[in-house]
Amino acid sequence: MMQLFMPLNFLGFVYREIRGALANIERMFSLLDRQPKIEDGPDATSPQIAQGSLKFEGVSFRYGDRPILSDVSFEIPAGHKVAIVGDSGAGKSTIVKLLFRFYETQQGTITIDGHDTKALTQHALRSAIAIVPQDTVLFNDSLMENIRYGLPGASDEQVKAAIELAHLSNFVSQLSEGWHTKVGERGLKLSGGEKQRVAIARAILKGSPLLVFDEATSSLDSHSEQAILNALKEMAKGHTSLVIAHRLSTVVDADQILVLSQGKIVERGDHQSLLAADGLYKKLWTVQNQH
Ligand code: ATP
Repeated sequence: MMQLFMPLNFLGFVYREIRGALANIERMFSLLDRQPKIEDGPDATSPQIAQGSLKFEGVSFRYGDRPILSDVSFEIPAGHKVAIVGDSGAGKSTIVKLLFRFYETQQGTITIDGHDTKALTQHALRSAIAIVPQDTVLFNDSLMENIRYGLPGASDEQVKAAIELAHLSNFVSQLSEGWHTKVGERGLKLSGGEKQRVAIARAILKGSPLLVFDEATSSLDSHSEQAILNALKEMAKGHTSLVIAHRLSTVVDADQILVLSQGKIVERGDHQSLLAADGLYKKLWTVQNQH
């Protein structure tokens, strides 16, 4: 009987493992759907990208015959933080999509450390940039493995350091099984703010020179918002960062803020100079600080 039971038990184990793996593969496909469709050219190169300085020069883009971005130029010197703000539909996310080459620009160039992104291999491009997306995908696995996903093969110590820097330590200490707690579809459901901090921990672990933070639109309580701001500060240290912001609290410390309206940069400057200019940024700021 035992001889029959053991293989069945083993089969049950294999079935559960496969089912778990399939759930992860499904999630991977939803990620892959969003991967750039553009192929590496025969001359694509993989230079060392250490600084992550970014330059958009005269970039224009249209979806079909609908103009979305028009003559967008800006520069993020190494180690600086630039934020993009603007009404919904202004073209902020499109800038990130072009950076990742989800689509090709029709005009203009995008360079990282002086290398045209069109001349880089997809691998080199994606290694150079760590993104905190609006919507973080959590796999059906422990919190620790979910963060290790940022740098497969990272040691437990590296993952724990990223958890600390992403201001997740308090959250982890409240979980019954700490960082071994299962999260994701059949585990603990994380709040929007906690998920963004998991994504920040992943990005810190990945250690790419250029960081892109695409802020989630979901509203956060002030405690959660502060935790994200602190985690962001840690993430930005020693890195070049591009922040797509919906809450202006995320941008006040940026070296430069770009105000986008209908696909054009209509104002640029730091928080104080933009308030003094009394233009669109001031209007956005006033609306957000009314309550
Ligand atoms: P939000 O703050 O709401 O995220 P956004 O400033 O990031 O907005 P984008 O997502 O860049 O704006 O969109 C810019 C414009 O491009 C919008 O009018 C949008 O409807 C349009 N758009 C986005 N994706 C596509 C697409 N795949 N095909 C056609 N039009 C698109």
